[in-house]
Amino acid sequence: MSSNNTPKVGFVSLGCPKAGSDAERILTQLRAEGYEISGTYEDADLVVVNTCGFIDSAVDESLDAIGEALNKNGKVIVTGCLGAKSGVVQTAHPSVLAVTGPHALEEVMTAVHANLPKPHDPYVDLVPPQGVRLTPSHYAYLKISEGCNHRCSFCIIPSMRGDLVSRPVGEVLNEAENLVNAGVSEILVISQDTSAYGVDVKYRSGFWNGRPVKTRMTELTKSLSELGVWVRLHYVYPYPHVDEVIPLMADGLILPYLDVPFQHASPRILKAMKRPASSENNLARIKAWRDICPDITVRSTFIAGFPGETEDDFQMLLDFLEEAQLDRVGCFTYSAVDGASANALPDQVPEEVKQERLARFMEVQERISAAKLQTKVGTMQTVLVDEVVEDEDGNIEAIGRTKADAPEIDGVVYLADAEGLTPGDFVEVQIYDADGHDLWGGPPQD
Ligand code: SF4
Repeated sequence: MSSNNTPKVGFVSLGCPKAGSDAERILTQLRAEGYEISGTYEDADLVVVNTCGFIDSAVDESLDAIGEALNKNGKVIVTGCLGAKSGVVQTAHPSVLAVTGPHALEEVMTAVHANLPKPHDPYVDLVPPQGVRLTPSHYAYLKISEGCNHRCSFCIIPSMRGDLVSRPVGEVLNEAENLVNAGVSEILVISQDTSAYGVDVKYRSGFWNGRPVKTRMTELTKSLSELGVWVRLHYVYPYPHVDEVIPLMADGLILPYLDVPFQHASPRILKAMKRPASSENNLARIKAWRDICPDITVRSTFIAGFPGETEDDFQMLLDFLEEAQLDRVGCFTYSAVDGASANALPDQVPEEVKQERLARFMEVQERISAAKLQTKVGTMQTVLVDEVVEDEDGNIEAIGRTKADAPEIDGVVYLADAEGLTPGDFVEVQIYDADGHDLWGGPPQD
């Protein structure tokens, strides 16, 4: 337990970047009220565990983390998605002090106050204006809304996080500005449905630096582009107004990168999935985006083996891949998530068929991705340095990303001769080589 009088809170955060963003808010508030954040269970007065409950393995991991915190510390408050699943945490670990769902800053703080009173004289000034971030200091996730108005049949996020609630645009932009002032070089805009930003508040105007800005994706990204850092958009559904941000990409104001989770290409399956914007002609949209911004990177994710998927449906998906020539793609086999309506659909696809389709999908996409990356060999690229390392022979190398690569999910660029570079630097490099996923580069060669 803590050795001085300042109350100390341990913090364990599991799950996706969105949960990470919740964690940052809680940590910031704790620091604002004068609590110290402890790096060990033993030194903490209590521990907050931020859980994930999206898939079964995440549930197990979260329950294990709670068990470990209880063993090593004894005083545990649970928050995050698993807390929203009624009774799961309490049944497995009845001795936890409190359980809240996701996005529950106030409730978490109330539980902390009840079990560990806040210090008398909070060191508010200790909190940097940009808050406490879990991501490396040169990039940061900017969460613009919470929840989702859609009801995709494979997803339980709306039932756990509720309907869309957009954060006030002025607050979002102030947070982004603080991040940039603190040295962040790349902002990753995240939400469950970025293109729906502002629908819940009828796109009302907020204020930033004394001027009105609409609560709407286009206006938000335009304002973000004024900050002079990389701005990357994630989880964008292909609604018609998405076309408005492509010229901003072509003009170099935001990164020419669009993360659009298409999930499938067969209209029948998209309908069964209840996907938003499923009736849009996605191939035509992608072509139009590339006409406006030829170097746009389109990333997407897909599900193979969704209930009812026939060989014809799957073939439609492969044909879509061949035509769409997407740059970056992730694919998962359909897996039943507790509470999702798709579990009740007829014609569930046998596991071996799902795996066989996944393998065929990856074979097609790997060929496409590899060919796309080959076209970069010999070109000059701006790279944001993420990491600088020394190999066993004492050579300094760096790992970074081009505009086409989001952290964690896309490929990287391995840079030789990285002497003098530090994380967060932008460097112009020549690409020497590529495989199906990553690039190799360094100073321009003659
Ligand atoms: S759009 Fe669909 S998959 Fe995404 S969070 Fe909403 S319901 Fe879930």
